[in-house]
Amino acid sequence: MPHRPTPDDTRAPWRAAVLTLFPEMFPGPLGHSLAGQALEAGLWSLTTHQIRDHGLGRHRAVDDTPAGGGAGMVMRADVIAAAVDAARADVGNSLPLIYMSPRGEPFTQAIAHELANGPGVMVLAGRFEGVDQRVIEARNMREISIGDYILSGGELAAMVVLDACVRLIPGVIGSAESLAHESFETGLLEHPLYTKPREWEGRSIPEVLLSGDHKRIAEWQEAEARRITTLRRPDLLRGR
Ligand code: SAH
Repeated sequence: MPHRPTPDDTRAPWRAAVLTLFPEMFPGPLGHSLAGQALEAGLWSLTTHQIRDHGLGRHRAVDDTPAGGGAGMVMRADVIAAAVDAARADVGNSLPLIYMSPRGEPFTQAIAHELANGPGVMVLAGRFEGVDQRVIEARNMREISIGDYILSGGELAAMVVLDACVRLIPGVIGSAESLAHESFETGLLEHPLYTKPREWEGRSIPEVLLSGDHKRIAEWQEAEARRITTLRRPDLLRGR
């Protein structure tokens, strides 16, 4: 039977507020599958806040040329501050403010847990070359990067962070069990997975998984997780 998320009445829904020039991109992928069902069930809520509403002049300008010269445009501190302050007036002051940025701390499962355990997040999605440094400091933004590459805007990055957080909210995923063994949760990459059919294109499922011996199965899974982590991500083992 498919899992149907149900709201936990003792807990206020986790709240996501996104500041963006492209609110129409949301919920996008977050409106589907797990995150989408949880959104519908009221386990979390999502609001978007159009930065351009705080733009300047007839053209509602949000950016200007970089001080010191150089290519591209920079999002203005005054405009971003006005957008942040207005969003805070709407949704309250309790949400940590995150600026998606390739210069930020690398996003990890540990950060996803930290954020999912809080009241929610307010996320600023940058565009152009990024945001004036002064507003990052003045509004105490936590900079988070989703990886060592450059996207054309922060919206996809914000969706990545929100998706990773939302699936950790209690009630979103059926059993806590299915979370516990996942890559990164144990400090190891996950062991290989198999399902039916038993034989496929001459390949069979490892015998031990069909043995019904739960102890041997757990040992095999742990050994495989270790083998694959050693091979692919030895850096993960050093912290253990
Ligand atoms: N000039 C910047 C890149 C700007 S990319 C630099 O060299 O560092 C435009 C926007 O996309 C950024 O403001 C940020 O919000 C978003 N972005 C791009 N890559 C990202 C990444 N790896 N992680 C998080 N956000 C990213």
